[in-house]
Amino acid sequence: MKLYLDFEPCQECNAMMKDLSSPEMLFADEVTRSNESAKFLRHLTYNHNEIVQAVMEDLPKQKRDQEFDFFK
Ligand SMILES: [Zn+2]
Repeated sequence: MKLYLDFEPCQECNAMMKDLSSPEMLFADEVTRSNESAKFLRHLTYNHNEIVQAVMEDLPKQKRDQEFDFFK
């Protein structure tokens, strides 16, 4: 999962991001990794609603850019 977001991570975010990039997690199996990612996304959804909103606003714009490239 790649997520580049401009926001102020809270303590919980920092802990989870650290977990997600830890060597233990990098070598963990798919299920464990996707569970951890899902946990983080859930946390973002409930605690950092502004991020979710920003991502949603950004999505259609990206899609338009891609379509524009396609028709060039
Ligand atoms: Zn957080």
